[in-house]
This record gives sequence, C-alpha cells and structure tokens, in this order.
Amino acid sequence: MSLPELLPNYLAGQWQHGTGAGVTLADPVTGASLVRVDATGLDLRAGYRHARERGGAALRAMTYAQRAAMLGAIVKVLQAHRDTYYEIATANSGTVRNDSAVDIDGAIYTVGVYAKLGESLGDRHYLLDGDSVRLGKDPLFVSQHVRVPNRGVALLINAFNFPAWGLWEKAAPALLSGVPVIVKPATATAWLTQRMVRDVIDANVLPEGALSIVCGSAAGLLDPLEPFDAISFTGSADTGALIRSHDAVTRRSVRVNVEADSVNSALLLPGEGSDSEAFDLLVREVVREMTVKSGQKCTAIRRIFIPESLYDAAAQAIGAKLGRVSVGNPRNDAVRMGALVSRTQFDAVKTGLAHLREQTEVLFDGSATPLVDADPSIACCTGPTLLGARDADGAARVHETEVFGPVATLVPYRDTAHALALIRRGEGSLVASLYGSDTAALAQAGVALADSHGRVHGVSPDVASIHSGHGNVMPQSVHGGPGRAGGGEELGGLRALDFHHRRCAIQASRAVTALL
Ligand code: NAP
Repeated sequence: MSLPELLPNYLAGQWQHGTGAGVTLADPVTGASLVRVDATGLDLRAGYRHARERGGAALRAMTYAQRAAMLGAIVKVLQAHRDTYYEIATANSGTVRNDSAVDIDGAIYTVGVYAKLGESLGDRHYLLDGDSVRLGKDPLFVSQHVRVPNRGVALLINAFNFPAWGLWEKAAPALLSGVPVIVKPATATAWLTQRMVRDVIDANVLPEGALSIVCGSAAGLLDPLEPFDAISFTGSADTGALIRSHDAVTRRSVRVNVEADSVNSALLLPGEGSDSEAFDLLVREVVREMTVKSGQKCTAIRRIFIPESLYDAAAQAIGAKLGRVSVGNPRNDAVRMGALVSRTQFDAVKTGLAHLREQTEVLFDGSATPLVDADPSIACCTGPTLLGARDADGAARVHETEVFGPVATLVPYRDTAHALALIRRGEGSLVASLYGSDTAALAQAGVALADSHGRVHGVSPDVASIHSGHGNVMPQSVHGGPGRAGGGEELGGLRALDFHHRRCAIQASRAVTALL
C-alpha cells in the first residue's frame, strides 16, 4: 500500500520536503490516513534568515495601506478555495459544516477586518505614538514616541483546534505591521493550514519571504530565533512554559505572547427566574458552547454559575437540549456534532471527565448516545456530558481543570460575591459571559471580572438575537487572558499591531520631530 502524500514545507522561498518518514494525519471519524507532514532536515536557520532579510525588507518597503491591500488580496484567494478548505476540515478535524465555518469563515473575516483597519493607517511606513511632549523648561526640546515594525520574524505556533483561524488571526496583524511570518501548525490538523499557505503562495500576492510554513515536529524550532524576532504561541500551558523558558526568550529577549488554556465561565445573575428570558439565553448559549467543535474551543464555557434555587431547573433545561444533539459522522446531514480531533484527544477527554467525576455528579450523560453513521470503535466521537458540583467551594477540580471536549459543570452560588469569588478560582480566563436583565448589575459584574478576564460578554434580552456569542473571538475585541490563560493578548483591532512594533522615543528639537 502506498504512503499518503507528504506535504511540503515552504521555507526560504522554496517548497521543501522533510527527509524523514513523517507523521500521518488521520480522519478522526473513519480512521482513514490522509496526508503526511515532516520537518526533518530543514535548514531552519537559513529559512528564518531569508524571511527576516527578504520578506522583512520587502514588507517594510510597503506602506500600511499597501499591506492592507495585500490582505485584501489574501481574502480573495481564500474565498476562491473555500470549498476545498471545508473538505479538508471535514476529513481532518471531523467537524460539521457549521463548526468548520467558525474556523474557516472566521479566518477570512478576520483578515478582511484587518484589511479595512489597515487602510485607515494610510501611506505611512511607521506610526506616531501620542503627541510630542517637552522635556524641560524650553518648549523647543521635545520627545516624540514612534512605533516602527519589528525587524525580525514572527514565529506563529498554533493549537490543533483552529488550523485556519489560528493562522490568520495571528498572521494578519503581523503582515499588516510589516513583519514576515513563519507558521508552525499543530501536527494533528496541519493540512488545512498548509493548504491555505500553499494557495496564497501560489497566487503570488505576497512578497517573497513574507509567509513560510513548517509542518511536523517542533524540534529545534526556537533555536534560530534572534533578538528582534517574536513568538506568538497558542496551545497548552505546559508547552507555553517550555517556550517561555527557552534560551531565545530568556537570553535573547525574543518577545513572546502566550495563549493557553482556560476554565471559562457563564453566570446567570441573581434575580432571574427559571421562566426569565435571561435564563433561556444562558441555557441556549451553554448548549451551543458545549457542542460547537465538540467543545474544542479555548473559549468554551466550562463552568456554569447559577443561583442555588435554580440548580435543578438549569440542570433539567440544559440536559433536555443536550439530549437532542445528534453525534457522529459530519458528512451526514442529520449530525449536529462531529468528532474530537484525534484518539489522543478522545482519551484525554475521557481521563479529564473521570478526574472531574470524583468531585461532581452527572446531570446529563450523552456518552452512551448511539453515533450516527460512525463506528464507535474507530470514531473519536462522544456525546456531551453535563456535570454538577453541589458543593461549589469544595469541588476544587472544577475550577482548575479544562476538559477540552463537550463537558461543562453546573455550579450553584449563594450571592453575587460568592459567584465572583468562585469564577476567580479559574485563576485568569479568556472569557466570562453574564446573563441578566438588570443593566446596572451587568455593568458592575463586568468591571468586577475585568481584572481576571480578557473579555466579559454581557447577554441581556435587548441583544438576545444580535450578540456575537460567548465563544466567538471577534477581531475588534481583544483575545487572551491573564494568569493561567497565558497572560497574552491578541486582536482588539489595531491594538494587535503593538506586538509587532517597537516603540522608540525620539528626543530632539521640535523642528526635527515636526518632520516625523
Ligand atoms: P500543545 O500540545 O501545547 O501544542 C500547541 C503547539 O505547540 C503545536 O503546534 C505543537 O506542535 C507545538 N509544540 C509542542 N511542543 C513544542 C515545543 N517544545 N516548542 C515549540 N512548539 C511546540 O496544544 P494543543 O494540544 O495543540 O492545543 C490544545 C490546547 O490549546 C488547549 O489547552 C486549549 O485550551 C489551548 N488553546 C488556547 C487558545 C487560546 O487562544 N488561548 C486557543 C486554542 C487552543 P505539535 O502539534 O507538532 O506537537
């Protein structure tokens, strides 16, 4: 039997195959072998140098408006190949069409937003940062801060769950800033990232060296990094810690942004009954978050905080909706929730569930639900599970454990102070969503949670049909979170460009700074 196709890497302006046997990527539903990836034997140092020197120089020679137009051209290329991306996502990620859209259309939308934002920066090669300020009594001698593009490469390391969006939400701000990117996708789902890069390179819409890709093992990936380079990492806290302690970061001051895991929350504010619209909105959002991409979203709701008196009603309402979720082969139109991405992830979810089970009760168990059109001995599919922690304070694991699958835990609270204290036990999260009709209470709780979250998402009846969703990362808002969420920050409109710029104070005569 012949081996599946070995995908080439793109480095130093050339498509290059690894020299090893490679890792075979599999369909998580059928188990079929798809393609192989391999980075053995690549000259990473030469590749990074080429990106830095050729790509960086070419990008910096362009203005922000020109680079924004370049992003617009990328959008057109990606749109033209959308159908292929959906096919790859179905085969390699096991996602139903709606879930693939979160990744693929989310990626295209994000690049489009940065194309528009970039236009507003105009035909400049660097940015002014604030106004000039005088440095002494005489107003002639002043300081003017400028922001200039980093003179290095941005190494983008991504998690397996967003092979499309993960690439472009990082690459769009970097390219708009004038910084060349080298992407290293997670091995399990590298195919979609590689195909997108291939299409953009083939379309010849970027200067040589602006975009490179290394698929396969991360061995040696950080070694060639130099002082002006940057790492933008998304993945587990353990890998984040390894990266942070690497020589490039500790000795060469390579800038690093870490997006890690997170035990996100949803909170129904006090004063809402089980017949309230806010209650319904919470139930709907929780079910959506547990099941979209089979719960493999870093932003997914893991803990649901509910007033003590509504615990049973919430368990019943959420369980009833989860019971209607069909699970199995994403190619079957009757299926609403597809697969976990691999056998490793499937096993990790089962282990995580068993760990949580020791401190919780099972309120809804979808794990025994028969799969649609899929063989349970092969397919990495599992139905959703709702757990409950009646002892909210004692169930420490609930506040510490991210099970990266269709699993969430209902937690009762006494009053708002108790709920906020429990939410903070997540030690820093990407997002918390609040549900209620009292606008003052929503605003107060929002600010109270701001120090431990990257984003707080308020859902009141007036925005019921228009809010963007607890778990959806919008390029206009920042993404990231303090503490265990990694301490990083991405997106947030033009704020994302900060990471790829250096700020410098130019101190001189006002006659000089007036020319900047
Ligand atoms: P992971 O195992 O940490 O891997 C993430 C990436 O790091 C992969 O590309 C991996 O490559 C690479 N990597 C592994 N070891 C490395 C090393 N020593 N040096 C440099 N890179 C290395 O995470 P994952 O399992 O793919 O992703 C799941 C986790 O990501 C979840 O915990 C989830 O919460 C988190 N996540 C967070 C966000 C966020 O924005 N905060 C978004 C999505 C996911 P290989 O695949 O080749 O090992």
